[in-house]
Amino acid sequence: MFIDSTLNCKVSDLAGLRDLKEVLDFLEKHLNGWIVGFSNRFSDDYPHLTCTWVETCKSLRCNPAQIMLVSYVPHKNDDKRVFLNSVCDIFSQSGFSIRRYTEFVACSVCKSLLPSKKAFSKLSVRPPFPWSNMCRHCAPEGKNQKKTKIEIVD
Ligand SMILES: [Zn+2]
Repeated sequence: MFIDSTLNCKVSDLAGLRDLKEVLDFLEKHLNGWIVGFSNRFSDDYPHLTCTWVETCKSLRCNPAQIMLVSYVPHKNDDKRVFLNSVCDIFSQSGFSIRRYTEFVACSVCKSLLPSKKAFSKLSVRPPFPWSNMCRHCAPEGKNQKKTKIEIVD
């Protein structure tokens, strides 16, 4: 499994890298497949996702850059994943939100990220609308809707 190859990478390997581009090149060579993709934004239907990201950036004194979708997010205190945690720190401190790609889908219209159907059912902030693979304002029926209908889900 590719993730085991990180056990051969050392944090000191990162020290010689000058910028994010060089970090990305290094990861492509040694950790190919870990980064699945990037996105610029979360859907407006899930403002708490953007809020959490902005708050994290504030506490790290950086500006939100992009959402980085990866195949695996290590636990913060996993001794075997010191290298991968260091990589995550580099990107977090540069304004990236690092998320598991299995937990998101891109809106088929505007490409912003929505929780996947499975992740939707586990959201701590449960939205008052059913899951969809499109933002509400991107859906054809959403464009003609004048008022947002709020449904109570118990
Ligand atoms: Zn959309």
